[in-house]
Amino acid sequence: MKKASESILIVEVINMMPTVICPECSREEKLENVLTAQSNQNVIFQCPHCQLLVRNIKTSKG
Ligand SMILES: [Zn+2]
Repeated sequence: MKKASESILIVEVINMMPTVICPECSREEKLENVLTAQSNQNVIFQCPHCQLLVRNIKTSKG
């Protein structure tokens, strides 16, 4: 069973590469590696390290 959370993700831009810090294990991963866009325009974050799953992501994109 995967964990679910509605934590707010921290997105950083390092060397022009947006990265996300996992709120569970605090490890950093490239945005493109951990975010999945759904057909209904929701975005899901899944951490490859601790398998944390976050739905209902609030992003700064308009
Ligand atoms: Zn994690």
